[in-house]
Amino acid sequence: MSLKRMVEAVRWLLIASGLASIVALYHHYYRANNTTVALTLLLLVLVVAGSWGLRYALVASFAATALFNYYFLPPIGTFTIADTQNWVALFAFLGTSIYASHLASRIREESHEADTRRLESEMLYRLGRQLLQPENVAQLLNFIPSSVANAFNSPAVTLYLADGDRIYLSDPKRISNPHVAWNSRDAPPSADGAERTRSEIVNDLREAMMQPTFRPPDEGLPVAIPLRVGVRPSGVVLLEAVSLSRETMEGLSGLVAMSIERAEALEDSARSKAAKETERLRTALLDSVTHELRTPLTSIKASISALLSQQTLDAPARKDLLTVIDEESDRLNRLIEQAVEMAQLDAHKVQLDLKPQPIAALIYAAVEQCRAGQPERDFRVSLSSFLPNVLADKAWIEKVLANLLGNAAKYSPVDQPIFISADPQKEMLAISVADRGAGIDPMEQSLIFDKFYRGQGQRSRVSGTGMGLAICRAIVSAHGGTIAVTSQIGHGSVFTFTLPIARPN
Ligand code: ADP
Repeated sequence: MSLKRMVEAVRWLLIASGLASIVALYHHYYRANNTTVALTLLLLVLVVAGSWGLRYALVASFAATALFNYYFLPPIGTFTIADTQNWVALFAFLGTSIYASHLASRIREESHEADTRRLESEMLYRLGRQLLQPENVAQLLNFIPSSVANAFNSPAVTLYLADGDRIYLSDPKRISNPHVAWNSRDAPPSADGAERTRSEIVNDLREAMMQPTFRPPDEGLPVAIPLRVGVRPSGVVLLEAVSLSRETMEGLSGLVAMSIERAEALEDSARSKAAKETERLRTALLDSVTHELRTPLTSIKASISALLSQQTLDAPARKDLLTVIDEESDRLNRLIEQAVEMAQLDAHKVQLDLKPQPIAALIYAAVEQCRAGQPERDFRVSLSSFLPNVLADKAWIEKVLANLLGNAAKYSPVDQPIFISADPQKEMLAISVADRGAGIDPMEQSLIFDKFYRGQGQRSRVSGTGMGLAICRAIVSAHGGTIAVTSQIGHGSVFTFTLPIARPN
């Protein structure tokens, strides 16, 4: 006997013994009036209706009516009724009992339904949160069947997408067949026992997808939930061995379709952002290369041509031309050096030689180097004598300092001083280079650290490659520090970078 049958048998038995006990109590042991008997029987019927449903309660009502008549309404011991008033009492009892059963079982069903809805809403909510986690479409599509299966306790979930006839499974060995009832004894790989070809499977799934409405669970067939983008069917989800309300199926359909659309939109936007960035870099590189390479090359070429064609040039003129060639070759060399450094930093090929370094020595070395190129410049270094050492690669940090000092000199008037300072901040040392130049537009402050970005105002006036600050940022972040700028138009700029303080051993 199945468990369900056994439960039913026990319930009938309990109803029979309940009725028998009430009759025995009032008939043999305690003589109560008929109203008390009727109310007690009614109470039993109500309890049955509230606990087990209308079917049991109706049978209990008729049985209770018969017993009430037989044992308590005169003439007692027969099913006949002498007094018309008792007929009325009997039918009033039957009517009340049936109507009350109906009400009690309706309350029971509604509360059961409300519980199921609540559970289903909770599952949908949890599923919704899970479906927001995957970072790309491929990950999401592989994740959907198993999360839906987990959320709704289904042994097998199949997701079919019409675009590319893609199928994703929660159980890799089991593709649900929309037309075959689920049976836990079925052996994988196919639900119907016979091997189906892929095109047969796809045809079945496509047919399930084209259904206009959701198919509710029916005789063990998997629940089929078509997915739609707008009104266009885009796929179907099959859930085996579950029973879901129509609202939940609608919610699930919307959730799955929307999560796929969202992931696709995110991927599209990331792709177009990357494409835009590549395009920007390409244009910037082209700009920079054409301008920065061509300018020195043109000067070199012109000087050499002049030297070759005009043999009669005097010594000072020849020297001038040779100086131009020398300076412009240096500029080309610097440009290529920067490009190589940038590529190495980008590819994380730079091996830092981190050692405790006295920052004052690095700053003075960089200042001396800059002064050599611009003796007239006023560099004002103010450092406390108790500065801790920083953990840094000397050569790379000198490059950062040289770049920042070079920019300060390049972008501020010659007669204005450049200030250099350093301050400990918790575990880091902040080094600042301040100038009294034209300042940087707030809109541009976050862009100037990008590769090849050159300030709108400076592009045509001052020569440069747009790589200096990008290199500085890559070097500083390889050290675990940060670099930023604060600037006010017309008042100058302060570039500050941080380096970790070396802990004494
Ligand atoms: P480059 O100097 O070769 O143009 P950088 O990467 O060093 O490239 O700088 C990027 C941009 O940041 C510059 O084009 C300039 O607009 C701006 N910039 C950098 N330093 C300063 C500064 N000290 N004052 C004003 N603008 C600056």
